[in-house]
Amino acid sequence: MRQKLLELERSARLLEPTADERLTVREKVVDYTEDFLNNIESLNAYNPQGDKGIGLLDSPISENGIGIDEAIKLIRDNVDTPGLNPASGGHFGYIPGGGIYYSALGDYLADVFNRYAGIFFAAPGAVRMENMLIRWMNDLVGYPAGAAGNLTTSGSLANMIAIVTARDGRNIKSADIPRSVIYLSKQTHHSVAKAINVAGLNECPVRYVELDEKFRMKADDLASQIERDKSEGLNPFLVVASAGTTDVGAIDPLPEIGEIARQHGLWYHIDAAYGGFFILTEEGKTKLKGLELSDSVIIDPHKGLFLPYGLGVVLVKNAEDLKYSNRFDAHYMQDAFRGNEELSPAELSPELTKHFRGLRLWLPLKLHGVAPFRACLEEKLFLAKYFHAEVQKLGFECKNVPELSVVAYRYVPKTGDANIFNKNLLDAVVADGRVFGSSTMIDGDFTLRFACLSFRSHLNTVQLLVDILREKVSELS
Ligand SMILES: *Cc1c(COP(=O)(O)O)cnc(C)c1O
Repeated sequence: MRQKLLELERSARLLEPTADERLTVREKVVDYTEDFLNNIESLNAYNPQGDKGIGLLDSPISENGIGIDEAIKLIRDNVDTPGLNPASGGHFGYIPGGGIYYSALGDYLADVFNRYAGIFFAAPGAVRMENMLIRWMNDLVGYPAGAAGNLTTSGSLANMIAIVTARDGRNIKSADIPRSVIYLSKQTHHSVAKAINVAGLNECPVRYVELDEKFRMKADDLASQIERDKSEGLNPFLVVASAGTTDVGAIDPLPEIGEIARQHGLWYHIDAAYGGFFILTEEGKTKLKGLELSDSVIIDPHKGLFLPYGLGVVLVKNAEDLKYSNRFDAHYMQDAFRGNEELSPAELSPELTKHFRGLRLWLPLKLHGVAPFRACLEEKLFLAKYFHAEVQKLGFECKNVPELSVVAYRYVPKTGDANIFNKNLLDAVVADGRVFGSSTMIDGDFTLRFACLSFRSHLNTVQLLVDILREKVSELS
């Protein structure tokens, strides 16, 4: 037995590299990342897919390890090269963010120390840090002292937690579902529909509120649909507004919707995944008035605070609602909730054991302070106005005046099908690779989207996009 144990220990101990081994591997990893960061300005925003990372399969998971040089080569060739480069400032598609560096170091610290951030008893400091960040965001949106929240992996998960909380907060039981009505708009992000589905609410009647010419919900249409549904004996219980739609960055009339939700007793959820952090700017603060009227809101630090992917946030005005929807009982954890001065993430989300996500937000906020984030967001608002003006000078038509940092635009050629032209134009821009863009359909029109939210996008990057558009339009015409 002893002999066997010592033998196994020899092999098991390989999992703890020596200080020298750590140094070697760490330096190679850091060198690789430094090489990337030092060249980020000249790297493409998009690389045609090539063999799509298939080379990884030539090196299967096996009994014996490989060296760090070989591992980095596999990552470089197969993972970090093909496809979209979201770290590039030339990424103007979907909703970019960039991935600020100190967040990566926050993750490194969180992972080396491996604090158990699920429960206050186990890691009071880690949980206090997360709660402090949640309080900071609750203050930003104007929620009172009794509010709570959770750091999730993404906006989609944050929406899911919010929708489940709305369901329970309005006491929707299975028998109520067929008559319990949800109000969305055609601009609502699809993760809300997914959340409704996952929450078991897909048999709720869903009403799409009419949009005005700026793609915002018409509050009077919302009110009249609710009244009609009520008069027919239905139970309107949830309205989801957007504070910055993904498509065009539209902000629904938040105060008016808040008033209607209050009058009719609806749960008021706001999806501010993309737009929420613009509240740090003066312009954003004015435009986002009414966030405080909601019962729940989501915001995405991996968008509006430029963090690497992996952080969304759900905020709920009444902590009890969030607690109720995530209640549980486990005998083996009977001693884990002693001396609870603080709420624990495990009580407020479907997760138990979780990554200590707080550090990836706390470290950059503490090292930089809020000021550069605020400036960067304001810069993005101005870059959208700049792009909007410049692209029209090139003869493009815009589907929106930027409310935040998204511009929907398309070129209408003198002859031929405009949809085909714009699709070819986008393909040409993406194939060029220096910048990346994406598209959407607006009123049946194939429309290009300029979504400016990478912290690495500046005047020169936007100018490059404008120049490339000019070049490609003339080539295609
Ligand atoms: C991005 C986005 C989401 C989804 O967030 P993920 O972090 O991508 O899961 C939800 N709503 C809006 C408005 C978004 O822009």
